[in-house]
Amino acid sequence: MRIWSVEGNHQRLDGGAMFGNCPPALWQQWLPPDEFNQVRIANRSLVVDDLNGHTVLFETGSGAFLDPGLRNRFGIEADHNLLPDSLSAAGFSLPDIDVVVLSHLHFDHAGGLLTDWQDGLEPELLFPNASYIVAAEHWERACRPHPRDRASFIPRLQTLLDTGHRLELIDSDRSVTLGNDVQFRFSDGHTPGLMLSIIGGDGGLAYCSDLIPGRPWVHLPVTMGFDRYPEQLIDEKKVFLDEMMQRKIHLVFCHDADCAQATPIRDDRGRYRVTDECPTIVALEL
Ligand SMILES: [Zn+2]
Repeated sequence: MRIWSVEGNHQRLDGGAMFGNCPPALWQQWLPPDEFNQVRIANRSLVVDDLNGHTVLFETGSGAFLDPGLRNRFGIEADHNLLPDSLSAAGFSLPDIDVVVLSHLHFDHAGGLLTDWQDGLEPELLFPNASYIVAAEHWERACRPHPRDRASFIPRLQTLLDTGHRLELIDSDRSVTLGNDVQFRFSDGHTPGLMLSIIGGDGGLAYCSDLIPGRPWVHLPVTMGFDRYPEQLIDEKKVFLDEMMQRKIHLVFCHDADCAQATPIRDDRGRYRVTDECPTIVALEL
């Protein structure tokens, strides 16, 4: 298989919300904010060819399905979905994608599945030949959201995806569609049933999603204000990082604007950090 990172629409979000209870004096060193205290974050996906016979997209970013007012509120920079152009630059068209794996269904991870906002029209799905893989536990949450994260979901999306034969719900570490080429891990600290994908086994890549959205969050105590159970997330992150280090698996970050991939290590004080940072992933053979 070969792997590319592809960029969706960047966002500008409040730095305090991105770093939870972390003191500003610390996070502002790691990710300097603009004059509005906002930080620029990526919405990065992976596209993989020849994965158990499929062309697979992991995650879709935010897209541009929101109306201009909400797009502005959530700091989404471009007024159209950049994902199709990024896929095209990597050599893929929308019909090429036959599987989309979604770590969870918050709009900044799944909104790129949808057509751009047009006044008076409902959004439709973008990928004509795709089937979809979502964790079963998360699907339940998306269909019955809690008031705390209801605004993060796209109600129409669940209706569009729920066509039966094109939706595979996952409750184990493998999917029927992707076989042994992808192993799943689960975390509940950010949202119930967040699904992490390990692509290519030992020495491969792990799509860390919102468990570890970028390099600063590799440090165990750093969590996002959006996480529902930060202490649980920290415990899950430690288990995940220990497994990745033991199996020499590299981390892929969805929200780090300057780093797509890095290798986890522990420093001489035992703190988790990364090395071998790469801004993009281009036709990586696994
Ligand atoms: Zn999320």
